[in-house]
Amino acid sequence: MRHRIAVVGAGPGGLTLARVLHRHGHPVTVLERDPGPHVRPPGGTLDLREGQGQRALDAAGLLGAFLALSRPEGQAMRILDTDGTVLRDWRPRPGERADPEIDRGRLRDLLLGHVPGVAGQAGVPEHVPDPLDVRWGRSVTYVEPGTPDGVRVHFEDGRRETFDLVVGADGARSRVRPAVSSASPRYTGVTTVETSLDDIDTRHPGLARMIGDGSVAVYGVNRGIVVQRNGGGHVKVYAQFRAPLDHPAHPDPADGEAVRATLLTLFEGWASPVLDLLRHGTSFTRRPLYVLPASHTWAHVPGVTLLGDAAHLMPPLGAGANLAMLDGAELAEALAAGPADPDEAVRAFEERMWERAGRWARITAAGLERLVSPDPAEALALFEEVHQEAPAS
Ligand SMILES: Cc1cc2nc3c(=O)[nH]c(=O)nc-3n(C[C@H](O)[C@H](O)[C@H](O)COP(=O)(O)OP(=O)(O)OC[C@H]3O[C@@H](n4cnc5c(N)ncnc54)[C@H](O)[C@@H]3O)c2cc1C
Repeated sequence: MRHRIAVVGAGPGGLTLARVLHRHGHPVTVLERDPGPHVRPPGGTLDLREGQGQRALDAAGLLGAFLALSRPEGQAMRILDTDGTVLRDWRPRPGERADPEIDRGRLRDLLLGHVPGVAGQAGVPEHVPDPLDVRWGRSVTYVEPGTPDGVRVHFEDGRRETFDLVVGADGARSRVRPAVSSASPRYTGVTTVETSLDDIDTRHPGLARMIGDGSVAVYGVNRGIVVQRNGGGHVKVYAQFRAPLDHPAHPDPADGEAVRATLLTLFEGWASPVLDLLRHGTSFTRRPLYVLPASHTWAHVPGVTLLGDAAHLMPPLGAGANLAMLDGAELAEALAAGPADPDEAVRAFEERMWERAGRWARITAAGLERLVSPDPAEALALFEEVHQEAPAS
């Protein structure tokens, strides 16, 4: 008998799981809260690493398409001092593909099989995969394991549906998580306020030159500004600072001008071009950074599991989407290998995911402590360690 599998969440992790299962000919239903794939801004660029996100895309049969769509030049990284002096300027070597960038919306489209015009590009197979069975606008409120028919999924609109396996890939505030674990995310003490600029090359050519092809980071005492070039001249700016959740430095994002003024005060004295990123930024979004415990595991519950941020939320230091996608690919491969009892595959997957996630949770937590720290030299030292293999220019 084919098992009825539902994935809650059409993020990078859930869609990778669904895509790899689909490739192995296994039906799967994706239940997603968003009413459609393009209803909200998809968020910034993601760097997908060779052994992680790229390995997952290979399992999905999409590595060639990813390499054609991604931006290898986005691997460039510049570190500035708060006075604007360039401290380091790392550029990718020709042909380097350790972690090229892709816009989140493009990645979602690629996994959904909705990338018009991709087939036929250099390195891309002619065949564009079939669309997945994604039920948009299906907001899950909770799941109920152990009913006589299987695992019951409850939706916000009062509907219910039953499956043999439900995978919670529904991110930081997972509604599936409580079915297996009582853990909840805790605030790290660091908040990010995100803003963005459009048409950077034509509207702000000086800033475009400062940013270059990839990312720029500037760190001061307990604060930093990280800038990432996305596709199409779009730039994301992340202002990060340490503050308790009830501190006035947590501006109300509904009042854009107040947020801008708060940030300009917080970063007062920094180089004018760096502050220009805040002066010209639009639509501010506040993101206090939360994490799950690094050692988060749970007693196995038949018919339910978690992956990605739902299982191991960690600071955003380039690992989360990569790990979510690797989780998705590995779970799909384990299920597709076809043990009679899918719980056997799930148990083995969980053990492997917990070990890997725990390791990365500790690495990223230590990284956040060093990046947003009382000693900005620590941030530079961390980047040096990460780039020690790459030639500095
Ligand atoms: C600013 C920033 C930059 C980052 N940069 C990187 C990077 O460069 N590289 C990297 O690897 N990681 C990065 N990350 C981390 C990365 O974004 C996450 O780890 C990753 O998106 C997790 O994927 P996921 O599929 O587990 O969950 P998500 O991406 O959170 O997707 C969850 C999905 O579930 C849906 N959903 C939620 N609740 C429900 C519900 N109740 N019912 C139905 N559907 C629901 C959501 O709408 C969403 O589509 C960054 C994070 C941030 C904040």
